[in-house]
Amino acid sequence: MTPYLFTPPPVMSVAVRGQDARFPINRLFFVGRNYHAHAVEMGKPVDKSVERPFYFTKAPQTLTESGATVAYPPETHNYHFEMEMVVAIGKPGFRVKAEDAHDIIYGYAAGLDMTRRDLQLVAPDKGRPWDLGKDVEQSSVCTEIVPLPGVVIAQGAINLEVNGVIMQSSNVDKLIWNVREIIADLSQFYHLQAGDLIYTGTPEGVGAVVPGDKITGRVEGVAEVALTVGAAE
Ligand code: MN
Repeated sequence: MTPYLFTPPPVMSVAVRGQDARFPINRLFFVGRNYHAHAVEMGKPVDKSVERPFYFTKAPQTLTESGATVAYPPETHNYHFEMEMVVAIGKPGFRVKAEDAHDIIYGYAAGLDMTRRDLQLVAPDKGRPWDLGKDVEQSSVCTEIVPLPGVVIAQGAINLEVNGVIMQSSNVDKLIWNVREIIADLSQFYHLQAGDLIYTGTPEGVGAVVPGDKITGRVEGVAEVALTVGAAE
């Protein structure tokens, strides 16, 4: 046993549907602006013919299991929901060809990329990174992983309600870069590993929550995610 000065933090993990073993988390990747209507609502339209996807990451410690109640985070007045389909990677992959991308898919989940929108939006204006806007404690919400090894999900409704009112309603067939293309592109930059999660981007309709709000969302054929926003600390 390696001696440590203090107890190391636990391995972050999520449940796997139908299994006792849990899915240990390695890294959390997020695709930015991957639905046209959301890119437009953010004032940054995407031209796929001349652009590649871009990414940001969050610490695995931001992972929160679906169904949790989380404190409204500090230092924001505009905490936003983003409903996303999550791809769970089950095998190593570097420079994966799009046609081979299914080989490294373990399964899927429904997720929320909770965002301090006020801090995210001010950052580029000041030449600053997105971390304070995106790498928010308890902001990477994820359901159990649904094992669908080798399956490429190309269509299915994706939607979200706040307190039962529909806020986001789209279809994953509207992804600008689809699951195969994301894996192919992201694996140019990173040696993808088992345990990596890729949040594939949010459709339009993002908005702010306040303490007491109950978020529910789902990806058709995958899972339903839920989060309750509690009082600020
Ligand atoms: Mn997002």
